[in-house]
Amino acid sequence: MQSRTTLLVLLFAALFPAWGQQQTSQKTLQAFDPKSMDTTADPCVNFYQYACGGYLKQTPIPADESSYGQFNEISDENLLVLKSILEQAAGGKGSRTPNEQKIGDYYGTCMNVEAVNQAGLKPLQPLLDRIAALKSKDELPQLTAYLDSIGVNTLFAFSSDQDFKDATQQIAVLDQLDLGLPEKGYYERKDDKSVKLREQYQVHIARMFELLGEPQAQAAKDAAQILKLETALAGVSLSAVERRDPANLYHKTELSKLDSSTPQFNFVSFLRAAHTPPVQSLNVTVPGYFSGLNQLLAGTSLDDLKTYLRWALIRHLPTTALPQALDHESFDFYGKVLEGQPEQKVRWKRCVSATDEALGEALGQVYVEQRFSPKDKERTLELTHDVEAAMGRDIEQLSWMSPTTKVRAEEKLHEVANKVGYPDKWRDYSTLIVTRGDALGNALQAAAFEERRDIAKIGKPVDRGEWGMSPPTVNAYYNPQMNDINFPAGILQPPFFDPSRDDAVNYGAVGAIIGHELTHGFDDEGRQFDGKGNLEDWWTPADGKQFDERAECVAKEYDGFVGVDDLHVNGKLTLGENIADLGGLKLAFLAYLDRAQKKGIDLNQKGGAEYGGLNPEQQFFVAYGQNWCQNNRPENLRLRMQTDPHSPEQFRANGVVLNLPEFQRAFSCKAGQPMAPVNRCIIW
Ligand SMILES: [Zn+2]
Repeated sequence: MQSRTTLLVLLFAALFPAWGQQQTSQKTLQAFDPKSMDTTADPCVNFYQYACGGYLKQTPIPADESSYGQFNEISDENLLVLKSILEQAAGGKGSRTPNEQKIGDYYGTCMNVEAVNQAGLKPLQPLLDRIAALKSKDELPQLTAYLDSIGVNTLFAFSSDQDFKDATQQIAVLDQLDLGLPEKGYYERKDDKSVKLREQYQVHIARMFELLGEPQAQAAKDAAQILKLETALAGVSLSAVERRDPANLYHKTELSKLDSSTPQFNFVSFLRAAHTPPVQSLNVTVPGYFSGLNQLLAGTSLDDLKTYLRWALIRHLPTTALPQALDHESFDFYGKVLEGQPEQKVRWKRCVSATDEALGEALGQVYVEQRFSPKDKERTLELTHDVEAAMGRDIEQLSWMSPTTKVRAEEKLHEVANKVGYPDKWRDYSTLIVTRGDALGNALQAAAFEERRDIAKIGKPVDRGEWGMSPPTVNAYYNPQMNDINFPAGILQPPFFDPSRDDAVNYGAVGAIIGHELTHGFDDEGRQFDGKGNLEDWWTPADGKQFDERAECVAKEYDGFVGVDDLHVNGKLTLGENIADLGGLKLAFLAYLDRAQKKGIDLNQKGGAEYGGLNPEQQFFVAYGQNWCQNNRPENLRLRMQTDPHSPEQFRANGVVLNLPEFQRAFSCKAGQPMAPVNRCIIW
């Protein structure tokens, strides 16, 4: 199941749902933990080791995780809270509210693995039959529209999105498909590791077909055919780096023109079968993908297409709703092989995640009542305003930007919407039917609900109150088309936000996260959108050039970092995130200095043992560094470095502070030391 939001930029990417560890630790999380530090390390040589060395040593990766850090620790705590909410709702009788019935029965049904196993392939059969009944390629639009309506993208992705050039309107969007391997490059790289991974993927597809009842030889043949077809689709897809440029993803096209350019697939029929509101024109994000798809359809037999559709179906279904043999096979490839995770998570954790994904705002509403107070919201907003004010002052004093562009930048800054904790208006799930005892049915109903909700937006004005994450999520995002920064309640707790700790550590921890999201509005991608969310160049040519040169400096610098084996960080893939990290920490620091001055805090006063004996500025930086304390399995790191727009954690700490003269001063580093290079990359 996937829902695609083209340009959402997250604080970090959870590639495959990353929830919880086997034994949830009982330790209390706090912002700035001196025990997490390695004070034998020199902060001027390796700041990450200094801030996180203790943590990395004390925190092994649990067997059911591919990486483990601060974010996971909060997720674990949240999981327990959500579990208790769900168990209560699942066990409740009679007097449940409609939402309690839905979340309780969704979770309770998911937990009944015996029933799922007993049902076996039976719940799947009607879907497989539907694919088998395909009589000619002319019927593809109807069949794919049906599969799309239950969250199964087959040949392409179809959704609604804001018009890049008119942010007030929702339009239909056709996009390339997310394939079975994580990214285009996985189908094309020629090195040994990549070749081996493709072989393993092919074996995985064959096993899944065998589990669906195919004879071994047929399954092997089908798997080879699917890899060939996906490789062809990858060939006409854009890479993750190419997709970072909005201009590459905006091609508004008349429906009639698209339709006549793809004789093999009738998009008018598809949209009719998908029950979309009237569509005259739509965004065909990657035109080359659709002409390539057309050719591919012409050259593929009906039988091969049916095989491919079966695979598309099976790989999109939530694995908790599938019999355990299929579930385990899926984990063996996506968990073990791809991420290096030795063991699958216990079922309750996966069912909590599945319920959150299906009914996030119904579950989130109860979560917020228990875990997020109006006072928490107030303090976060105060911090946010401080960081925004700091950005205003920062723009004013920028030496490289002309007054003309500054006026527009300040305008955009003032138009940023701050969304904190949870939505003002909760999603209405009244049309979503959840039935006790039908795990696959519930998953498909939830996906269908989400599809209907998404498609119904086409042709309607944009709802600016909408959220792209559920309240318990431990993450944050900026959306350039909404021009909003979003901080779910899930991340607004210790160690990131800790009302019991001093301002210095809160500005360093959550302040830098707020600054990060805000700076996304002004990174290499975000800067191409104006304050209303329209793709519009509001920069003078000279200022645009200045920005690009500075961004190029960042890209080159990060290209030089080696993350795992001999794999370098991809400076272009991670550019937006690195710019956001750099700007975010600087803005948080400026905001803190201002706050400290207003409060009369003595910046030379060393803290007690609970603050490692450091002065407030040093505490600020260590708290920031500790945001990124995390151990990673090499497979996980390799996967992320090839797909994730975020740099590995050590560079999110070191790569940032080495570009800040403020850090050099705080730790009295000598010019030329690793964390205090003579040449720096500075944008914001
Ligand atoms: Zn980000």
